[in-house]
Amino acid sequence: MTDTRVLVVEDEVAIRDMLVFNLGRAGYEVLPVGSGQEARVSIADHYPDVVLMDWMLPDVSGLELTRQLKRNPETREIPVIMLTARVGEDDRVAGLEGGADDYITKPFSSRELLARIKAVLRRGPLVEEEILTAEGLKLDAASHRVSVGESEIVLGPTEYRLLYFFMRHRDRVYSRAQLLDRIWGGAVYVEERTVDVHIRRLRKALTRYGYDKLVQTVRGVGYRFSSREA
Ligand code: CA
Repeated sequence: MTDTRVLVVEDEVAIRDMLVFNLGRAGYEVLPVGSGQEARVSIADHYPDVVLMDWMLPDVSGLELTRQLKRNPETREIPVIMLTARVGEDDRVAGLEGGADDYITKPFSSRELLARIKAVLRRGPLVEEEILTAEGLKLDAASHRVSVGESEIVLGPTEYRLLYFFMRHRDRVYSRAQLLDRIWGGAVYVEERTVDVHIRRLRKALTRYGYDKLVQTVRGVGYRFSSREA
């Protein structure tokens, strides 16, 4: 078994069921949906590891939806494999230019599909070389360093993960439960209060440079990372 979540966006029930069956048997956690709208909801709620995207959907083209996902900093790292009955070279180019990470033409074998999924997951996220900045605060994901100018800010591993998550998801409010799910991996034995403890530590580490104000408390909801005034 793996913890890998595969979102299947396919309106044809027979194909969707076949994908659910084969992916489930291969040990994947499968999230099946039949429209672009359902796909958006599922992505926001479950943040899948990979998306299998049918080209022709009832409400939006898979190509357009892929473009939207790749434009959004929150979802652009999720690999997308386009599924299509189209075979033309132009379509292949359009699919890849639209941001799809790979492309598979129907009909395909389960074996081929599983190999493609493994391949895009192996590539890993693009974030390895990512450098995130906010108001002069710099996070270098490749070296796991956080700095301001020449000065390094030393963070514990959880504070680093929190900051990394926040810097990649700015101006958005997360509840403690959501942060637990994203940063602690939904470990059920961790109490929500734990989040507050690590937020305090993160703020403390950032205080010297005045960056603690970036980590904002949203009363009754949770936390937000923003360079705008709270
Ligand atoms: Ca379709």
